[in-house]
Amino acid sequence: MLETRGYRVTIQKFDPYINIDPGTLNPYEHGECYVTVDGHEADLDLGHYERFLNISTTKANNITTGRIYQNVINKERRGDYLGKTVQIVPHITDEIKRNIMLLGTKSQFDFVITEIGGTVGDIESLPFIESVRQLCWELGNNCLCVHLTYIPFIAAAKEVKTKPTQHSVKTLQGLGVQPEILVLRTETELFKDICKKVALFCNVEESAVIQSYDVPSIYEVPVVLAKQKMDEIILRKMNLAVGDPPDMKLWIEFLNRMKTAKKSVKIGLVGKYVELPDAYKSINESLLQAATYHYRKLELRHIHSEKIDNENAEALLSDLDGILVAPGFGQRGIEGKFAALKYAREHDKPTFGVCLGMQCMVIEFARNVLGLKGANSTEMDDQTPHKVIDLMEDQKNLINMGGSMRLGAYDCKILPGSKAFQAYNKELVQERHRHRYEFNNEYKDQFEAHGMKCTGINPESRLVEVIEIPELKWYVGTQFHPEYNSTVVNPNPLFMSFIEAAIKS
Ligand code: GLN
Repeated sequence: MLETRGYRVTIQKFDPYINIDPGTLNPYEHGECYVTVDGHEADLDLGHYERFLNISTTKANNITTGRIYQNVINKERRGDYLGKTVQIVPHITDEIKRNIMLLGTKSQFDFVITEIGGTVGDIESLPFIESVRQLCWELGNNCLCVHLTYIPFIAAAKEVKTKPTQHSVKTLQGLGVQPEILVLRTETELFKDICKKVALFCNVEESAVIQSYDVPSIYEVPVVLAKQKMDEIILRKMNLAVGDPPDMKLWIEFLNRMKTAKKSVKIGLVGKYVELPDAYKSINESLLQAATYHYRKLELRHIHSEKIDNENAEALLSDLDGILVAPGFGQRGIEGKFAALKYAREHDKPTFGVCLGMQCMVIEFARNVLGLKGANSTEMDDQTPHKVIDLMEDQKNLINMGGSMRLGAYDCKILPGSKAFQAYNKELVQERHRHRYEFNNEYKDQFEAHGMKCTGINPESRLVEVIEIPELKWYVGTQFHPEYNSTVVNPNPLFMSFIEAAIKS
């Protein structure tokens, strides 16, 4: 809302856990690991920030307790504290405040929205809340505290409870922070008297008690908040001119398409985390954005890669319009990905392989078309006779696993005339990476001679970034993750092209 009013806005997330970044966490912990252009492995919320704001975030947008402590300890070792005892207040809190102020001073943003993860009352988030208290005091009207609370609905009694909100605000007040705006997270729209009651108990103006009730799509949330004039309240409280209401035309057009689309496009996502939708968050959103732009409802079927084989592939995949083989790490579910790809290739289904998905396309082709028995990635089998996917040279002697993959945006030169070129309509693109293994260039000629072409190459390292089978309708694999830069107003071209092919098939 602030962005559509012309302000330059960025959002950062503070995660109170001790990991330096979420890169080493498995998806069961916090869902997908998102990657920024500058190669930071980040919380998946940064993906939401980019999809909503259409900006690029960086390492400075995601900070953990681990990073804060690491910086302070490094400074202590360097002797920066000149013999002082290093303590949570002021040293840790100063470092937190420095990281909040950094985006405002360095990058010229008008608004830096800082989200503190966790829940008020957590032991881990105390230094963050203390830093917020200090900042509110230091910055006066230039700082505004918004508190998000929960209003549970007791289904059996058909009533909502405001007590958890009251308690949470009291705890926050006990820590010296008075929220000026409350956002009540609820299942259904609340009656006005509930908001009135909350306002009374929490020292917050009634108009500043905003509801955030469940809506069918996360992209409807800004509209719900705009209806309650949340942006106006923020501007007023920060002594800024209110001016004209935000022009959310593009956004509303997108929502209308999503709501009114009649026909659907059926996509199968083959991966090992079917029970965990957040594991493929950016892919799901990229597919939804592309489907919406093509005026289709996205019908997404998650297919468990451990449950698919050559026998049941037909039954599981034949009615789909397109198949996406997901990224991932490790052996589990890998044979199912080969089975899905064999079926897709032999039946000419539009198919998209992302990162490990692309590597699986290469391995399946090596085994079943080139006849290279036992071909594999050395990630799955280091004794394979045909290392068609192999560890990158600079990965061979690594000891630290955190933050050491090939990460962030790299150039990719696209071959004119290829499917990838048709999608991007330009020769040089930048896409983000997160991997240790790569296509083995020693096999390149053999693949190309038999119909799998390398259509995207990194101009400096010669690493293969895109492969495709031109004679099929749409069979494209990317070593990079195009899903990371797909936003509501700027959907990624490869996803657009994949969905287009799926609709046509
Ligand atoms: N595991 C593969 C690699 O490290 C692919 C990674 C991914 O899919 N993000 O190269």
